[in-house]
Amino acid sequence: MTIRFEDARSLILENVPTLGVERVPLLDASGRVLAEDVIAPWHMPLSDNSAMDGFAVRAADCESGEPLVITGYIPAGGRPEPAVVSGGAVKIMTGAPIPPQCDAVVPFEEAEESGETVRILAPVTLRQHIRFRGEDVSPGDVIIPAATVIRPPEVSMLASMGMVMVPVHRRARVAILSTGDELIELGQAPAEGKIINSNSFSLAAAVRECGGEPVMLGIALDTPEDHRKKLAEGLSCDALITSAGVSAGDRDFVRDVLADLGVKQLFWKVAIKPGGPTAFALKDRTPVFSLPGNPVSTMITFEEFVRPALLRMMGHRRVVRPFVKATLKEDARKKPGKVNFIRVRVEIKEGRYIASTAGDQHTGILRTMVNANGLAVLPQEASFLPAGTEVDLQILREEVAMLEK
Ligand code: AMP
Ligand code: MG
Repeated sequence: MTIRFEDARSLILENVPTLGVERVPLLDASGRVLAEDVIAPWHMPLSDNSAMDGFAVRAADCESGEPLVITGYIPAGGRPEPAVVSGGAVKIMTGAPIPPQCDAVVPFEEAEESGETVRILAPVTLRQHIRFRGEDVSPGDVIIPAATVIRPPEVSMLASMGMVMVPVHRRARVAILSTGDELIELGQAPAEGKIINSNSFSLAAAVRECGGEPVMLGIALDTPEDHRKKLAEGLSCDALITSAGVSAGDRDFVRDVLADLGVKQLFWKVAIKPGGPTAFALKDRTPVFSLPGNPVSTMITFEEFVRPALLRMMGHRRVVRPFVKATLKEDARKKPGKVNFIRVRVEIKEGRYIASTAGDQHTGILRTMVNANGLAVLPQEASFLPAGTEVDLQILREEVAMLEK
């Protein structure tokens, strides 16, 4: 029975497991998802320190306008001494610890140094230009909650908190199996009736792009025996993706052989175009995505179903690329009954997205996919969408929103 697009995706996301936790060196943690709350072990800053290059003073001493006597110098990384005595000032560098008795720092720009003394040129407020112990972080604070995606700011915080190893969700190891007697491997000479197995490569690239590790299982011939052997191998990974052999042809063995291997099908056939014959199944908790073989269908169904699933498995909360509203530049026609994904070129004009067709929309046309930087999502029941209609758009290339300079 055909399932609706949104229901298919929900069913997948409800059924995929979250992968376990591993500890990785901080350098390898960016892009990964934090698996536990991180609690601050100490204060940041660890002690009061100067926010400016200047003079450590006592604010009250500066009111009279009399010059202060310079009694010492504290570099960054130095010790907080000497103490600031009444009528005195200590030269201090940014980040250097604040000495006892000091309650303000006067930046060089507001001071006039001459020999052993310094004159303060501007009014001084208590506590100015001092970074106080713990003003950023105190011990026990949850500084980064679990499920946060680690980016440079988190790396900075984790480093500051001494986190040599970081608990993150495992990367998914994803088996990729292409099926079909017409396939030859990359590197083999092209021959009539043969097609280079490009899907294994586009899927591997897509798996990597979302943070997973592809495991290449190559090609299964169109026999139940070869399918059985290679599908069984794929089930030992965290997830298995197959391409082709999932339609109703008499040599489409993927679903039958999966069933023989005890894999339970949750759906087959989704009300979408392209990608209608997609199937989703589970072996215990291991998800199996059977995608149609047409390269464009394979990539679009990966994008809509597999990518969100892998991201969820790797601990991400936000897993579906955002929809923006875009205006169609040309009329679009479709048959009602299926959500259609059309490959578009998106431009931003005065802050609005304008989508025009990226080329021939037949699913066999790979060039249109190469040329596309977005997918326009035409609703299931729509049939004619005149130019100017607003539609949902998924941006496939981040650089769409980047400026050419
Ligand atoms: P199927 O889903 O088996 O009916 O395949 C649909 C179309 O996709 C056929 O034209 C296949 O030759 C093509 N195809 C299947 N598998 C691959 C693959 N691994 N790489 C590139 N094209 C493929
Ligand atoms: Mg086939």
